[in-house]
Amino acid sequence: MSISTPRIAFVIPCYNEEEALHVTAGVLRKKVETLSAAHAISAESSIIFVDDGSADATWNEIEQLHQEAPELFHGVKLAHNRGHQNALFGGLMHALDIGVDAAISMDADLQDDPNAADEMIERFRNGAEIVYGVRDSRETDTAFKRNTAHAFYSVMRWMGTETIPDHADYRLMGANALRALAEYGETNLFLRGIVPSLGFRTDKVYYQRGVRVAGESKYPLKKMISFAIEGITSFSVKPLSMITGLGVLSVVVGIIMLIYTLASVFSGHAVAGWGSMMCSLWLLGGMILVSLGIVGEYIGKIYMEVKRRPRFIVEKTV
Ligand code: UDP
Ligand code: MG
Repeated sequence: MSISTPRIAFVIPCYNEEEALHVTAGVLRKKVETLSAAHAISAESSIIFVDDGSADATWNEIEQLHQEAPELFHGVKLAHNRGHQNALFGGLMHALDIGVDAAISMDADLQDDPNAADEMIERFRNGAEIVYGVRDSRETDTAFKRNTAHAFYSVMRWMGTETIPDHADYRLMGANALRALAEYGETNLFLRGIVPSLGFRTDKVYYQRGVRVAGESKYPLKKMISFAIEGITSFSVKPLSMITGLGVLSVVVGIIMLIYTLASVFSGHAVAGWGSMMCSLWLLGGMILVSLGIVGEYIGKIYMEVKRRPRFIVEKTV
C-alpha cells in the first residue's frame, strides 16, 4: 500500500525552546507548504509541538503559532517535564489520533536537517513503513560525545539490543508502525530500541547534522548517562545473568585453590589455616553469587513480563 499524497505530521518535542521555536516553526511551515504545493504530501499536513513542561515562554509561542494557522500548528502541553522520549511519544500518539498517514519526529533546534524529510517522504511513498534519519558524519559533535556514542552502540549490540548507529530520533513512521508502537505499555521508554524491534519495511536516509539554531542543549552529561542506562536496562536482562557468570568464575577459582591447598598439604609446604580460609571464601562466595544470579534470572523474566509488550505485530492480512 502506498499513499501518493500522504497526510504528514512533524512532531517536535520542546523543552525550554523559546529561542529556537519561531525559527523552527518558520522553516517547517515553508517545508510543509512547498511539499504540499508539489503534491508530495497532503495539504492537511501539520506540525505538532509538544511542550515538555517548559519553564519559559515555549507554550505561549506554541499558542501564538496555533492562532496564526490553526490547521497547521498543533500544540500538546505536558503538565510537567517528562523527558524527550515521553514528550515524543505523546506527540506521536496525537498524530495517530488526528489520523495522519505518517509522522516525522524531529528535534526543535533544527539539528535534524529538515530537507532530509523530502527523501523520507519519498521512501514512505515507495512503501517503506519506517524511515530512519542517519547522520552522515559526527563532525559537529565534540570528540567526547562521538566516542561515548560509539561505545554506547557497541554496548547495546553486545547486550543484544538492535539499535541503528548514528540514528537519533529523526525518523518517519507510518500509521501502521505508530499503531504498533501504541501497544508498548512501558513507562520507561527508549524509542531507539523499540522502533527497530517493531519490524516492518524500513529504509534509511543520510543527512548532515547541523548545529543548534538557538538556545543550548537540554541534554547535559547527567541526562545522557541516565539515557544510556535506560537504553540498556529497558531491553536487556544481561546484567543479571552476568552475576551467574561471575559466580561460576568464583567457584572455579575456589576449586583451583582447593587443588593447590591439597597439593601443598601432601608436599608438606602447607601454611596453617590459609588453605581452608581461601577455599571456603571463594567457594562460598561463588555459590552465593550463582544463587543471586538464579534469582536474577527470574526477576529478569518478571521484568520482561510486566512490560506487557505485544507478542507480535500483524503487518497485513490477506
Ligand atoms: N527535550 C525535551 N525534553 C527534555 C529534554 C529535551 O523535550 O527534557 C527536547 C528538546 O527540546 C529538543 C530535543 O529534545 O527538541 C533534543 O534535545 P537537545 O537538542 O537539547 O539535545 P542534543 O541535540 O544536545 O543532544
Ligand atoms: Mg539538539
